[in-house]
Amino acid sequence: MTDSVSDALFQFKEIKLKILVTGGAGFIGSAVVRHIIANTKDSVVNLDKLTYAGNLESLGESAKCDRYAFERVDICDAAQLQRVFDEHRPDAVMHLAAESHVDRSISGPSDFIQTNIVGTYTLLEAVRQYWKSLGAPAQENFRFHHISTDEVYGDLEGPEDLFTEQTPYQPSSPYSASKASSDHLVRAWSRTYGLPAIVTNCSNNYGPCHFPEKLIPLVILNALEGKPLPIYGKGDQVRDWLYVEDHARALYKVVTEGEVGETYNIGGHNEKKNLEVVHTVCALLDELCPESPHRPHAKLITYVQDRPGHDQRYAIDAGKIQRELGWTPEETFESGIRKTVEWYLNNQPWVEHVKSGSYQQWIDQNYAERQA
Ligand code: NAD
Repeated sequence: MTDSVSDALFQFKEIKLKILVTGGAGFIGSAVVRHIIANTKDSVVNLDKLTYAGNLESLGESAKCDRYAFERVDICDAAQLQRVFDEHRPDAVMHLAAESHVDRSISGPSDFIQTNIVGTYTLLEAVRQYWKSLGAPAQENFRFHHISTDEVYGDLEGPEDLFTEQTPYQPSSPYSASKASSDHLVRAWSRTYGLPAIVTNCSNNYGPCHFPEKLIPLVILNALEGKPLPIYGKGDQVRDWLYVEDHARALYKVVTEGEVGETYNIGGHNEKKNLEVVHTVCALLDELCPESPHRPHAKLITYVQDRPGHDQRYAIDAGKIQRELGWTPEETFESGIRKTVEWYLNNQPWVEHVKSGSYQQWIDQNYAERQA
């Protein structure tokens, strides 16, 4: 037997779970798929509609693995969901598919209501029908893991306050309200129908393959081109930053070891003001691109009109996942942001491909409305 055949057989015997990941072509979903393929013997079905935010190039080598399958499906399409569940028969679902950009939710909330609320409802019903059809042990072992955000909790009042799993929901934007609705639906399906569900609420992520409409990749790419670096308001909004690969590890731990019916908050213990984040990125670019004609990159910082309803501060108490599941982040903000900037510098083809016409049109429209 050749090595590759015995490797393949070994892999086959060791396969543990089949995990259906929705939104696996997005920023966090692709990190989850890459993590599972690289670090476990599980197999993955990536179910994604491929909106502007979905990019199969983010999967890299994982997409070539025989433990990986892709289904281009909208989570609002009940018939297609049923077909996927019948064909693939997963042991767990990790639900990341969503419309995720707050500014887009303000200029056009309809897609957020449709995907985040109606889509989650449609998925829950497809999962419930499939789960009911399983035998007793498979039903008990099945997991539905809903991935959500700390933005559902709204703004923090005091400078020392932290979001815990008991913090009441008070969403401020159409995005966070739609995510809050989906969290409530998942908990209702768990309580009412007994679906074995777990919810996680995470702080701001950053890292490789982040679509360049979000703050950190936008700043990196604009700075490289000598374009203005737009700062909303005074840039004093505080966010708790988590490196995306730390989030992916946390999510896998939750889906495989988490307690059914529980919620886990996930955060990086890295509270930073937006302006501080932008200055850090500029300093790294000054160091890593000594030939850049745009140094010092911080001179490109431009203050623009703030987002309406902009929350001032988010910060997570991640004590529960640390105590109960033994998860802590591996990256500090300093190590993670350096890796992130280096990734964008070393992956120009990925960057060029996502900067399609439709993306550019959105950026133009968003910033034309925010005169400096
Ligand atoms: P993203 O926008 O990068 O990716 C979303 C993915 O979902 C894309 O691949 C897109 O094609 C897919 N999708 C959108 N609508 C769909 C539909 N109707 N059917 C099937 N697929 C669809 O988002 P992200 O930043 O990777 O976030 C993933 C999840 O994590 C979201 O639920 C988001 O609310 C949550 N979250 C994000 C952050 C963050 O900082 N990015 C923080 C906490 C929680």
